[in-house]
Amino acid sequence: MLRGGLSIGKVFGISIRLHYSWFFIFALVTWAMVTSYFPSTHPTWSLSMKIGAGLVTSLLFFGSVLAHELMHSLVALREGIHIQSITLFILGGVSQMAGEPKAPRDEFRMAIAGPLSSLVLGGVFWGVFFGLRNMTSGTAQFVSAVAYWLGYINIGLGVFNLIPGFPLDGGRVLRSLMWWRSRNLQKSTKIASNIGRGVGFAFIFGGIWLIFTGSWFDGIWIALIGWFLESAAVGSYRQLLLQDMLKGHVASEVMSRDCKVVSPDTTIERLVNENILTTGRRCFPVVTDDRVLGLVTIHNIKAIPRELWNTRMVKEAMTPLDSLKSVRPDEDLSSVLQILIENDINQVPVIQDHNVIGIIGRDNILSFVNVRSQLGM
Ligand SMILES: [Zn+2]
Repeated sequence: MLRGGLSIGKVFGISIRLHYSWFFIFALVTWAMVTSYFPSTHPTWSLSMKIGAGLVTSLLFFGSVLAHELMHSLVALREGIHIQSITLFILGGVSQMAGEPKAPRDEFRMAIAGPLSSLVLGGVFWGVFFGLRNMTSGTAQFVSAVAYWLGYINIGLGVFNLIPGFPLDGGRVLRSLMWWRSRNLQKSTKIASNIGRGVGFAFIFGGIWLIFTGSWFDGIWIALIGWFLESAAVGSYRQLLLQDMLKGHVASEVMSRDCKVVSPDTTIERLVNENILTTGRRCFPVVTDDRVLGLVTIHNIKAIPRELWNTRMVKEAMTPLDSLKSVRPDEDLSSVLQILIENDINQVPVIQDHNVIGIIGRDNILSFVNVRSQLGM
């Protein structure tokens, strides 16, 4: 659900992204600060002062959420888990990890780091507030007003994330403790994600109740958070089951071996008529003199206008080898799946000693999973 977004730079090698929905929350926080919060706490402030304070508060709020996510990521990096990106969106931040923690202790540290950093930040902001609140200068008033709200929101962020429903941080802490005691990751994840679903439903019902009792805005917000929690809880458990099923299996077990190779100088028209329409295959290694030049897929062909099919050659349409993702025959199935998802592609060639020995796609992995689950394995 978080595909779109802007990349705003890299910190510690992690790319930081803003999802489009984040701009809405930024505008909402600023608007609420300027029109309702500062007018009630500092009625004497001019409008430009309120707008300035609103913008500063929103920016620091954004920095606080980012700091929370970065703390998770820094602990993960220390434990050898690569973090690809952090995306900030309407309900907070999500870190995209390559891999899962290997031991309960790693997961515990990684999970607790975020809420702890929010609580510490909240304490620092409230420290600033208490230090400055009795000073009369305009600057001190400005800083203490902003610091008070940020202290409150960071502590709220820390406490909310400690709710023990997976995949919230608190749910991860709970899972790591159960995992540590039982040594059974799958069972622990199941319990923690069921609690996560329960928390999600509680938020949804609480939100609906608020909508009907008049606080419709808070109600929609809380129900939305609940819906997000519930689906994330279901999704992360499914993902674990899938990874469990794929564990220990490699690309060569499920790849399609009957790769029909084509020459780079075949026309697209001929490829379509003689190979695609008759065999139903969707993907062909392009080979000359036993050397793989690239891969041509239905996707590549669709990019070429129909009327040019009889003049354009396969070599002009293919994805060349150097920009092509490929896997080794002994590549783990879960990492093959990850490569497909990350690059948004349907198949990759399986290459051994510069030869294409097969093609593996989402459909191969899907039917592998389907057959095993039908057999109850
Ligand atoms: Zn967190």
